[in-house]
Amino acid sequence: MSTNQTERTPPRRFKFSYWHVAIAVLAIVMLRPIVTSLFTAAPADYSYSEFKSAVGRGAVQSVEITPDRIDGALNDGSSFRTVRVDDPGLMDLLEAQRVNIRGRVPSSWVGWILPIGLMLGFWFWMFRRMRGGAGGAGGAGGIFSFSKSKARLTEGQQSGVTFDDIGGAGEAVTDLREITDFLASPEQFQRLGGKMPKGVLLVGPPGTGKTLLAKATAGEAGVPFFSLSGAEFVEMFVGVGASRVRDLFVQAKKKAPAIIFIDEIDAIGGRRGASMGYATNDEREQTLNQLLAEMDGFQPTTGLILIAATNRPEVLDPALLRPGRFDRRVIVGLPDLSGRLEILKIHTDDITLAPDVSLENLARITPGFSGADVANVINEAALLASREDKDAVAAADFDSAIERVIAGSERRTRAMNEHEKKVVAVHEAGHALAAALLPNVDQVHKVSIIPRGNALGYTWQRPVEDRYLMGQGELQDRLAVLLGGRAAEKLVFSEVSTGASDDLARATDLARRMVTEYGMSDDLGPVRLAADMQAQYLGASGHLHPSISATTAARVDNETARIVKDALEVALGIITSYRPAHEALTRRLCEKETVSGAEIDAILKRARKAHTVAVNGGATV
Ligand code: ATP
Repeated sequence: MSTNQTERTPPRRFKFSYWHVAIAVLAIVMLRPIVTSLFTAAPADYSYSEFKSAVGRGAVQSVEITPDRIDGALNDGSSFRTVRVDDPGLMDLLEAQRVNIRGRVPSSWVGWILPIGLMLGFWFWMFRRMRGGAGGAGGAGGIFSFSKSKARLTEGQQSGVTFDDIGGAGEAVTDLREITDFLASPEQFQRLGGKMPKGVLLVGPPGTGKTLLAKATAGEAGVPFFSLSGAEFVEMFVGVGASRVRDLFVQAKKKAPAIIFIDEIDAIGGRRGASMGYATNDEREQTLNQLLAEMDGFQPTTGLILIAATNRPEVLDPALLRPGRFDRRVIVGLPDLSGRLEILKIHTDDITLAPDVSLENLARITPGFSGADVANVINEAALLASREDKDAVAAADFDSAIERVIAGSERRTRAMNEHEKKVVAVHEAGHALAAALLPNVDQVHKVSIIPRGNALGYTWQRPVEDRYLMGQGELQDRLAVLLGGRAAEKLVFSEVSTGASDDLARATDLARRMVTEYGMSDDLGPVRLAADMQAQYLGASGHLHPSISATTAARVDNETARIVKDALEVALGIITSYRPAHEALTRRLCEKETVSGAEIDAILKRARKAHTVAVNGGATV
């Protein structure tokens, strides 16, 4: 969420709650004895002998006896008290003098105040926790305010975000402009009896600017913007979510024309009936039902538009997507080259750039980055430059920032012994050499044995352009690069280490997709064997389709293993043929820890022998 959102804080007013009553009752009970004692005369303290002589004189009217005290009243109206002693004759004496006798079992205040106090304390703590746990936004006072919506309200004019602040989302902006135009002049759209959509669903991977788009729509239309996340509806109690939805619509209708934005709507909008009977799902379903009912309940003329965002459209309940509800779907995809350039321009607007920075080049080397990633790179670069006290952010800072975003921060403090360092160098030199020699893969920009994130070393390949399609040969080359590290370890040490586990996982996943999704196995043919197409949406790699037989599943496993093994053979072939280059690169890595792509080219040139390595042959397994 951006920070330029202005939240309205209502003036704090006293609000009645049952909690106040409980505190008042407790205070009265506890203070009563003190107050009473202030207004009544204190009883006289008698010795036991004085007490007995008063009884003997017939001056005592009544006594109240407890196990260790005797309180009494004299005939003249005054009161007294004395300590009770073990005196078997006292009763006879009192009866003889016709004194009114009462007994009392004292109640210890600890006996009842403490449990009540503890109970109230627990009660208070539970309510506080439940209010705080869900984010506590919204500022509704009192412990019985669960049902209040937690939406944050930003007045349209104050949102400060417009479509100009969004880069690379041209089509989404065009779709949303229709909404702003409608909010500005609804009559024009209804002239011929048409109805505007009530809801717009923004669909796209994380960080692509969905929240920003919704905010900009409100900003452009100059209408109030109610925003909250799907998870903020959900509370421990059944029914709370539904009443929050109701409250949200009541609030929004009062401010109409307005935009309601529900981020991560999948938290409440998941398919109904998919529950296993858990209470939480009942709550979610009730919330969703209420949302559906509210969406049916307002007329498009009200000027209320719902915008929701999700990166998991496949899990949404179909009822949410039918006409009259979220019938508009706006796809907000990852930005392309020109999109990234626009985003770079927007976010570097107030950043001092050194002359060697080329935004075009930065856009080119960041395919697959979302808008949020690009913004993050710029911020990281600016932080790096200021840490080094530079006057401007240089190209090298952007390089480091991209590396950090891709592979995590450097972890120079992770101590490796000499042997481990050698293994990592051999491994990375294997990847780098395969990448430098195979024709269909991205260029090697840098290889390093400085640990980053979870990796002990890494080979950074830089794409030269955005890719939307890949041929079988390219995928096979990619696999060979992934297995280059393992191949090198095997050749140099005759055994492999645990360091290749991540490479193996990625290689196996890719090979499996080649078989089950892309129909690239001659044995199984051009059939789709992976589960549900929708589940694959937005990168979620699926399992096999449930209808696949065990025999086919076994063939899939065999084919996957064969493709990976073939790729390993290719990698082994390359490193065997270029063994001197591999050794030179390993040595260089051990000395310098980081070697650039240009240096790798130079090493290759020097060591290249007149081999008849069929690089192209290697690429087409
Ligand atoms: P999520 O699905 O995780 O909620 P989102 O799609 O809603 O993510 P935003 O919260 O809108 O993403 O984006 C995060 C930040 O990334 C924005 O505040 C903005 O700085 C930057 N950003 C993302 N996309 C763009 C874009 N297209 N143009 C400019 N900035 C962008």
